[in-house]
Amino acid sequence: MKKTLFDKIWDAHVVKKMDNGSDLLFIDRQFIHEVTSPQAFAGLRERGVPVLFPSRVTATADHNVPTRNQHLPVKDEMSAKQIRELEKNCRENGVELFGLGHRYNGIVHVIGPELGLTRPGMTIVCGDSHTSTHGALGTVAFGIGTSQVEQVLATQCLLGEKPKRMRITVSGKLSAGVAAKDVILHIIAALGAAGGNGHFVEYAGNTVDAMSVEERMTICNMSIEMGARGGLIAPDEKTMAYVAGRTFSPPPGDMNEALAYWSSLYTDAGAVFDAEYFFDAEKIVPMITYGTSPAQALPVDGWIPGNAENEKRALDYMHFNAGDRLVGKKIDFVFIGSCTNGRIEDLRAVAGLVAGKKIAESVTAWIVPGSKEVETQARAEGLDRILESAGFEFRQPGCSACLGMNEDKIPGGKYCVSTGNRNFEGRQGPGARTILAAPLTAAAAALYGYIKDVRTILN
Ligand code: SF4
Repeated sequence: MKKTLFDKIWDAHVVKKMDNGSDLLFIDRQFIHEVTSPQAFAGLRERGVPVLFPSRVTATADHNVPTRNQHLPVKDEMSAKQIRELEKNCRENGVELFGLGHRYNGIVHVIGPELGLTRPGMTIVCGDSHTSTHGALGTVAFGIGTSQVEQVLATQCLLGEKPKRMRITVSGKLSAGVAAKDVILHIIAALGAAGGNGHFVEYAGNTVDAMSVEERMTICNMSIEMGARGGLIAPDEKTMAYVAGRTFSPPPGDMNEALAYWSSLYTDAGAVFDAEYFFDAEKIVPMITYGTSPAQALPVDGWIPGNAENEKRALDYMHFNAGDRLVGKKIDFVFIGSCTNGRIEDLRAVAGLVAGKKIAESVTAWIVPGSKEVETQARAEGLDRILESAGFEFRQPGCSACLGMNEDKIPGGKYCVSTGNRNFEGRQGPGARTILAAPLTAAAAALYGYIKDVRTILN
């Protein structure tokens, strides 16, 4: 029988098919962080149940961490408490923690792939929506709730229904100035915030093939913003090269066996999907959001739809009107970072655009590496100096202003161009107005102090 990539990985992990139609799925790795794990550990403690396979769990502190002076005690009491709780739980249960200041610390969806903990063919879960990021390496990876975090800690298995399969094929060559973030915003805007409901998405086509592994992570990361359970991409030679030699990758002696298995991870010709969509890369331009859902996105030089009556609440929150054009709109903050766009290639792209230039005086611009390794690499390449000379604050790793859960908040009423993945009301702080964009578009806004079509300033 012809199988999709998703079916191959899911089916290989089914421990038991239940009478009600759901599957008991073996989970190869669970990532945890300080926000969604405390209740799970408390539940285990109450029931006197140990973590079954501590070596299959990896912890990091990311959501609550400050991005300045990480060597000092954390000032915010709630954040400090959560970080302490994570440390205690990991210590008591033998779980490896890459805590604040550790050389492998960083955003959970950045460190997994970069450390070689995320590998093709795996099932991966985390109590975090954007676990879909790991699918870029050919894994079935998805976010779970707190009670499920406890279930997986206790049993290394998860009970759930198998999602339906969707394939999204993107073909053609992207134009200069158009990034992976623009591609996924274009797709989400076309399919809607619920377009992927109940499905696991495979991204395919020669546009995706041409992307780097990091660009593919940006694509898979935002699958959840169209309601999909997750997203994944078949591993290819780029994936194999990316995984080989990383800190926790299989040792060279075991690599041949691993490569043989990974090479079998593709959708068979003729395999059937429950839904299929096709996109033309040549029609995709730099994108920007105008509302309070990632699906409320439009070409950067476009106009907010005139039929936006059903989006009135979002436009009121953003203080935009139907018919407004975002190009030229003044902004206050720029945030470049997050598990969507906080990787070394993102930092390189921004540094390349702003080198030798100065950001607008009216703008506060933060650039936050997704992990300690990204920070170290950026410093080794001198990117920190380029960015700081341009006026960016080059911060230490963490989720930062992707969400208003730490010190990096955007003040109410202020506009922030963010490379994060969510622009919900209050996402970056109470009353903050978030405009999602790709790193180059965000960097262009920092330079000019208003929204700019980056294509007009590229050489
Ligand atoms: S960077 Fe943002 S989306 Fe990613 S894990 Fe952190 S808070 Fe969640």
